[in-house]
Amino acid sequence: MKYISTRGQAPALNFEDVLLAGLASDGGLYVPESLPHFSLEQIRSWRDLPYDQLAFHIIKPFVSDTFNDQELAAILKDTYAAFAHPAVAPLQQLDHNEYVLELFQGPTLAFKDFALQLLGRLLDAVLERRQERVVIMGATSGDTGSAAIEGCRRCKNIDIFILHPHQRVSEVQRRQMTTILGDNIFNIAVEGNFDDCQEMVKRSFADQSFLRGERRLVAVNSINWARIMAQIVYYFYASLNLGGPDRSLAFSVPTGNFGDIFAGYLAKQMGLPISQLVIATNKNDILHRTIATGHYQTLPLQKSLSPSMDIVVSSNFERLLFDMYQRDGQQVAELMQQMRAGKVELNPTALAKTKELFSSFALDDESTAQMIKEEYLRTGYLLDPHTAIGVAAARATRKHQDQPMVTLGTAHPVKFAEAVEAAGLQTPALPVHLADLLQRPESYQVLANDLPAIHQYMAERVFPS
Ligand SMILES: *Cc1c(COP(=O)(O)O)cnc(C)c1O
Repeated sequence: MKYISTRGQAPALNFEDVLLAGLASDGGLYVPESLPHFSLEQIRSWRDLPYDQLAFHIIKPFVSDTFNDQELAAILKDTYAAFAHPAVAPLQQLDHNEYVLELFQGPTLAFKDFALQLLGRLLDAVLERRQERVVIMGATSGDTGSAAIEGCRRCKNIDIFILHPHQRVSEVQRRQMTTILGDNIFNIAVEGNFDDCQEMVKRSFADQSFLRGERRLVAVNSINWARIMAQIVYYFYASLNLGGPDRSLAFSVPTGNFGDIFAGYLAKQMGLPISQLVIATNKNDILHRTIATGHYQTLPLQKSLSPSMDIVVSSNFERLLFDMYQRDGQQVAELMQQMRAGKVELNPTALAKTKELFSSFALDDESTAQMIKEEYLRTGYLLDPHTAIGVAAARATRKHQDQPMVTLGTAHPVKFAEAVEAAGLQTPALPVHLADLLQRPESYQVLANDLPAIHQYMAERVFPS
């Protein structure tokens, strides 16, 4: 399978090169040139497969020029054995025809493990074969950093540098990153905010000369296609466990950068009967406003109780726009150029198509806390603030009462104590494998919000060739 850029000017690449690339050279994002399509009969035949074997069938067409069947099956088996629950992505029923798909059974208790546990192993296999060593550089507001470090910690050929905003991530989130000790793991606490961290990472990818040409940077945020690909699988898994594909179902997806819900859109394009896809956002509601008005317009960042969805722009929305504009890279490049001034107006056709595909809903902090509390009192189930927004959005926008509605449970509530306390409830205990997290030794470096200083720190620590 070939991959092409959303802006139409970069060379087409195979999977291996897309895995190692960040942005395309024209500034766009890579997407498959065409998607595999599965018949209902094919999907039905996967009904009894365990998670990793289902993943094999869905991921294989995307990676087959890089991994043979045996390699892929082994990597997937190893990846999903790292999850605490034997079902990997278990369903929890909240009400009649209403479910949460628990995607937080991985090592760092958020859905990002599904993609980053796999990404680490895919990278390791490719780098070993190429005898190449790379540098991962990423910015995190909390969940991505720990999932990336957990996913890559055992990779001999990767040095990993994660920037987080100093004193602006929760203690549990910080410790999930800083207590993983290794010669190739570097946590940098930047004296700035998340946007500062992200901006420095972007600039580093654009000019990698500080690495003196010896290494290349690899991206772990959701601009990396491999992350989206891994996330397609659990839509199929949920469906197959709820009567699919002989029955349609709806998904509500807590959304920030549009990565997770874009994977749901792809599952639908690949043949899975999905009747509704709900974009659930907090008060950083650029996507909800876009669906409502057709104006994709930035507003200043607002800190919320669901920090993993605190975004200004949704970077993967570009991948959807590419499809909404008939895969015309030139048009997408023009839209993204307008976006530099902070605002894009979708044309009526693109807006109509987007509205047909997605429902949307935004929830403020007060109602999020209320939702956590009500659901706990009603069912005894404690939702994390992101999932709570998903459940509220599911109920507010639901079109088909006679079909299952599945909210993606994106994180374990123990990661977001502030929201649980705002709901007047007690934070649950840490799961067994993290029980001593607050006692483990930490390692991280506080650095100024200054790119040259960070580059110097990195250059001195990258494993010498
Ligand atoms: C990253 C994250 C999200 C948002 O996912 P996107 O793919 O960026 O839309 C939602 N909830 C949690 C807990 C997350 O960590």
